[in-house]
Amino acid sequence: MHLSSYDPSNGELLGELDISSLENTKQIINLAKQTSYSWKQVPVNTRAAIIDRAFKGLIPYQEELAKLLCREMGKKFDRGLSEVRGAIFSGSHYASEAAKALTPEKNSHIQYRALGVCAVISPWNYPVAMAVNLLVPALVAGNTVVFKPSEETPVVAERLVAILNKELPNGVLNIVHGDGKVGNDLVESKDINLVAFTGSLAVGKQIMKTASVNLKRLVMELGGNDPMIVLSDADINNAAYFAVASSFENSGQMCTSTERIYVAKEIADDFIKRVKEVAMQYQMGPWNEPTSQLSPIVSRKQLDKISKQVEDAVDKGASIIVGGDTYQGRYFQPTVLIGLQQNMQMEQDETFGPVVAIATVDSIDEAIMRANDSVYGLGAVVFGQQHAQSVAAQLDAGMIGINKGPGGTGDSPWVGAKQSGYGFHGSPDGHRLFAQVTVVE
Ligand code: NAD
Repeated sequence: MHLSSYDPSNGELLGELDISSLENTKQIINLAKQTSYSWKQVPVNTRAAIIDRAFKGLIPYQEELAKLLCREMGKKFDRGLSEVRGAIFSGSHYASEAAKALTPEKNSHIQYRALGVCAVISPWNYPVAMAVNLLVPALVAGNTVVFKPSEETPVVAERLVAILNKELPNGVLNIVHGDGKVGNDLVESKDINLVAFTGSLAVGKQIMKTASVNLKRLVMELGGNDPMIVLSDADINNAAYFAVASSFENSGQMCTSTERIYVAKEIADDFIKRVKEVAMQYQMGPWNEPTSQLSPIVSRKQLDKISKQVEDAVDKGASIIVGGDTYQGRYFQPTVLIGLQQNMQMEQDETFGPVVAIATVDSIDEAIMRANDSVYGLGAVVFGQQHAQSVAAQLDAGMIGINKGPGGTGDSPWVGAKQSGYGFHGSPDGHRLFAQVTVVE
């Protein structure tokens, strides 16, 4: 059985890979298990140095990888290249930061040991970056990895692993291909000790249920429905630019893209006018079209999900002031929707499309209540001056940006609150979630 991968801008076939049968998957897990006994004996700094070399080995291939990534996932070439370059940088950077976090302090009785075999299961929206974020801490901690990329982006993942494996010892980093069934085969295996997953909340819940049978360790970075609050003393121009850029980044297919906006009634008209002007400047186009800012949506399934949420919002009283429809059966138009209400799917769930969805609110308390009335809690953003800090203090999210996007710099944790995550990666605490903390006295 083959997994076929297509360019979402024109449907062109990019490649075909064998889907891993249960038998193949078991053999690969077994290779990873056998290799884990030697890999965990390699000192942590040596492991980090090998991983650093493997990532530096990607440098000559960065343009090739970026082109594959963009053709397969749809994003524009400059964005794909930044993703690959960012992954090369973070591969080396996190290798050294994780090694520091996992090195026992002098005379300490606390050690950080390998767990065994880690399944890394990743999504398609940042197919290189999301994989690397989990592969690196898992490998530095002394685990071997069986990596299952998204079925939407297997070709770039296969190439990434092949290049990294020029430096990594055989059996340390392994790859299997297929959809959720193959992912589930990994989670069910008694020889997988840790599941490191980035993807949707629905699949995260299934993984947690399946993993409970053997009480596997879990690190899960899940979906979001990020709110943005625009206070009455916000810089309207900056807030409007951010609102559009964040809602449209990666055609909205970003876990921390702005999904719903609560703007103070005093400035709502001016804010909406500016948002409309900015949004209308966006042009759709394929990965290699220089003027394009909005790429195609990755799949028909995803396109239908966005359309249904927009229709639901309109049926319940929202108004579309820009866009609102699919284009050429492959894109979703840059869209601005006003009159967002709590009973709409768009307010309740992740849209993952290029939609700026705006609600005008009567008070700060209403904005905070609606921002927090969600099972998700990944990122949140506040634009404003006097009360911005106190509003930020009341938001239920793992990463909160004040007059900027969410997410810290350096070795910060990438972390979701509530049902947006379970465990996290990044920072010394995050790196240690990929290891077994052990006390030896
Ligand atoms: P998805 O959950 O549908 O799939 C993710 C991966 O899980 C894929 O490789 C898929 O094949 C696999 N999978 C599916 N069912 C499985 C099962 N039962 N057992 C094991 N594996 C299974 O997500 P997606 O559509 O690929 O990605 C989009 C989602 O990812 C969005 O919800 C987005 O918010 C989230 N995401 C979160 C972050 C974060 O850092 N929090 C980052 C990127 C994406």
